[in-house]
Amino acid sequence: MSRNVAWIHTIGKGDIATAGGKGANLGEMVQVGFPVPPAFVVTAQAYEDFITHTGLAQQIHDLLAKVDPDNNRALHEASDRIRKLFTATKLPDDLRGEVTKAYQSLSEGQEGGAFVAVRSSATAEDLPEASFAGQQDTFLNVRGEEDVQRNLLRCWSSLFTPRAIFYRAKHNFAHEGVRIAVVVQRMVDADKAGVLFTRHPTTGEDLTIIEGALGLGEGVVSGTVSPDNYVIGPDGKVRQVNVATQDSMYVRGPDGKTAVIKVPPDKRDARVVSDEELAKLAKVGKQIEKHYGAPQDVEWAFEKGQLYILQTRPITTIRGGLSQGKAPPPAPPGTAPKEPANSAPGNPRQLLKGLGAAPGIVTGKVVVLKDAEELQKVQQGDVLVTVMTMPDMVPAMKRAAAIVTDEGGMTCHAAIVARELGVPCVVGTKRGEAAATKLLKDGMLVTVDGEKGTVVEGEVKQKPAPRGGMAQPATQTAPGAGPALASPAKPLTATQVKVNLSMPEAVDRALAVDPDGVGLLRIEHIVLAFDEDALGLERSGRTQGGEPYPRPVHPAWAIKNGHREKYVKFLFENFQRIVAPMAPRMVWIRTLDFPTDEMRKARGGEDEPHEHNPMLGWRGVRRGIAQEELLLAEFEAVKKLRDAGLRNVGVMLPLVQHPSEIRRARDLLRQVGLEPQKDIQFGIMVEIPAAAVIIDLLVDEGIDFVSFGTNDLTQYTLAVDRNSPGVAPLYDEFHPAVTRLIESTIKVCRARGVETSICGQAGSDPKFVEKLVRWGITSVSANIDALPRVREHIARVEQKLVLDRAREGR
Ligand code: PEP
Ligand code: MG
Repeated sequence: MSRNVAWIHTIGKGDIATAGGKGANLGEMVQVGFPVPPAFVVTAQAYEDFITHTGLAQQIHDLLAKVDPDNNRALHEASDRIRKLFTATKLPDDLRGEVTKAYQSLSEGQEGGAFVAVRSSATAEDLPEASFAGQQDTFLNVRGEEDVQRNLLRCWSSLFTPRAIFYRAKHNFAHEGVRIAVVVQRMVDADKAGVLFTRHPTTGEDLTIIEGALGLGEGVVSGTVSPDNYVIGPDGKVRQVNVATQDSMYVRGPDGKTAVIKVPPDKRDARVVSDEELAKLAKVGKQIEKHYGAPQDVEWAFEKGQLYILQTRPITTIRGGLSQGKAPPPAPPGTAPKEPANSAPGNPRQLLKGLGAAPGIVTGKVVVLKDAEELQKVQQGDVLVTVMTMPDMVPAMKRAAAIVTDEGGMTCHAAIVARELGVPCVVGTKRGEAAATKLLKDGMLVTVDGEKGTVVEGEVKQKPAPRGGMAQPATQTAPGAGPALASPAKPLTATQVKVNLSMPEAVDRALAVDPDGVGLLRIEHIVLAFDEDALGLERSGRTQGGEPYPRPVHPAWAIKNGHREKYVKFLFENFQRIVAPMAPRMVWIRTLDFPTDEMRKARGGEDEPHEHNPMLGWRGVRRGIAQEELLLAEFEAVKKLRDAGLRNVGVMLPLVQHPSEIRRARDLLRQVGLEPQKDIQFGIMVEIPAAAVIIDLLVDEGIDFVSFGTNDLTQYTLAVDRNSPGVAPLYDEFHPAVTRLIESTIKVCRARGVETSICGQAGSDPKFVEKLVRWGITSVSANIDALPRVREHIARVEQKLVLDRAREGR
């Protein structure tokens, strides 16, 4: 070990002053014998010598002496200048030589050098707060001597971010006194990777749970690929093997960046981790747990047969400490049991596993629907099973006790409608040969768990819900309305928490969670209920058995054929069923947004244009303007609400991409006698990247609010079809391109006094909502079932923000 560079195996847990916290912990793991990828540390002394000998220490001192930490602009300028000083200064020859030598050794003669991670490793005594210590930079996929040197300088310079300078100034740390080590570690090019829990992560049972998938571990850790799931008993015996169908995998591309590729067909359904590898993993897992004295959550990888431990941290999710229970844990979503997991007497057999899309557990008889023409087959209390629901299946969905589909993700049609109706729902059950429509047969009795995403044979009696939990009936046969959600003491939040609705039938369930309004009233389902019966027309639909049933009527056809008044009245009455009980809470009614393919089966739907890509086609406000009789009819129904004395209404335009669309919609509102922003709130959805980019121009047109439609915003930003299972691993609302568009839009709207909200599915995800609250969103609109959870989370985040600000003296 030289003063400048130390190999990781020479470092122990007492070496924080030299190697920083991260370096010392890695060294400790190597010393105990865990297989950690090779690494070296550029020591804190090397940093100290560097800034002293190059004169940087003095320059930093001079620059920071003058800075008032409360002057944000000055802080940023100083930070910029200091960081540039670092990157413009060359490493002294001796240090450069040592780093290069160590890197070459790490590369083991690999042409072009190995890919490495260059990580800042803070020295704890200088940086006492973990949250602060985590602020320094890490660079992944670095390759080549020069890049290693460049990123070493960048890590060093990250001691001088505006936030770090501010923090030290406020805590009276001398800037010259802080030091930093840097870990340079070879990146593992995993053939297979995953996570390992040394205990069951919720029950604490003495089982080793291993999840593994082909390729790099990112897919498993982020939850975007379905890993196999293995359960190993305390005796080391493999108890369960649940093999998932893996369609895509993460690999390192030639440029070192992570890429997602398709898994070759012959490997998709193959088991990933062998018995021998499982034994190795379980053994290391136990050693790690013993060493740290607590159950651990470990990231692992195999590269060319060699096992590597990438990270370990304590499991913090075990309920009520450790127990020695016997029941095996449930398999995670995306797995089909290969060996009957639940075959012990009395244990029901699990038939299917998918995504839990709407919570609740019910037992009922299966009815498999091939298409909407079979709707009448579904009786109250049945379990509706189909490939994917379509809007014209809504009447049957209302009767169903549960819904199970082969395809779809969390924002598919079945998921949205089921959540709203309170009908338990499992989507995406297609895994290899298994699929709901193949395995489930008409008349079978099954129990559907819409939270875990499972379908099991027969009736399963439920244990009583834990105290304070939300009890649901063991067998729910009531249709449509679904169980009311308990509404314990409602935490007060500055951010309003609203609800998404699309059917008047759900308004009581919505009121039970006491929302601050309706942030999205999707009117498509109301329009679908406008059917031949509603118009008194002869039923033209025929089931397979020849029974007539009423088809929905296309509103354009209805208007053209003399039924305009009835259509407007129908809309008004259905809107009123929601707006009246919600008063005085605001309800934002979104104008019609049907893609052309979804209305083709309606009466008059034959005239819908055939589009190659309906998602990018004639839908949303562009259609309402082009076929203005549609938008005018909707606006007239809204006007009737005002005339009936209901003032808690807003109009929201979907899929806006140009200011002229707002202008035109405003003219049409005036035509029906409503003055936007005066008589009625007037807003737009931001769900096309263009709208976020030109938000200032849209605001110039005069709007009261914007609402983020993250379902569409994500699909259009990433060019990922939100309903296509093939690209589902790429659909990510947390992608920085999506979150940056949202963050910048909120900023502009705040400055211009325009309200911001979210009504896409991400608004029901507490983690996503946390970001929005930090950026200053005005309201969040969530699904009924998610609302209590979202509200509690918002309350916590708001409290923390207030505390942080108070502590920082802001
Ligand atoms: C959205 O795009 O996020 C949204 C709420 O609209 P929809 O899902 O109805 O397209
Ligand atoms: Mg949308």
